[in-house]
Amino acid sequence: MTERTFSIIKPDATKRNLTGKVNAVIEDAGLRIVAQRRIKMTKAQAEKFYEVHAARPFYGELVEFMTSEPVVVQVLEGDNAVARYREVMGATNPEQAAPGTIRKLYALSVGENSVHGSDSQENAAIEIAQFFTAADIPG
Ligand code: ADP
Ligand code: MG
Repeated sequence: MTERTFSIIKPDATKRNLTGKVNAVIEDAGLRIVAQRRIKMTKAQAEKFYEVHAARPFYGELVEFMTSEPVVVQVLEGDNAVARYREVMGATNPEQAAPGTIRKLYALSVGENSVHGSDSQENAAIEIAQFFTAADIPG
């Protein structure tokens, strides 16, 4: 089923000029980038985005990292886009990520792991709505 997911190219990747290389992996996997914007996240935006992790020991570090450099927020569309993008990203910890995945190719560490992707269709809709309106996504 065609669906949408939300992606972020994280600061470690934008800083190393890897936006195009990450997008090539996304497109080669059959996912279409239907909206994207380069932004500098505010502390409030990062705190809200990751509020589910607020009690975790790495939360402060995560918010600091996500606001340290610009990120690229994206909407990806394709068949089973949520699960498909999780496969393409690879495991959270790049040491455990499969060959050819974005995190295996480019991530620096479990924290600085190059990309975010929604973990469910419900969260995808919530996350897309935090950064995009319908008018931003021509389809
Ligand atoms: P994922 O991004 O694969 O869905 P999580 O939702 O578990 O992973 O974590 C959200 C983000 O928090 C990770 O992508 C990573 O940037 C950061 N993170 C997760 N675990 C750790 C950790 N142990 N130490 C530092 N940062 C972490
Ligand atoms: Mg997650």
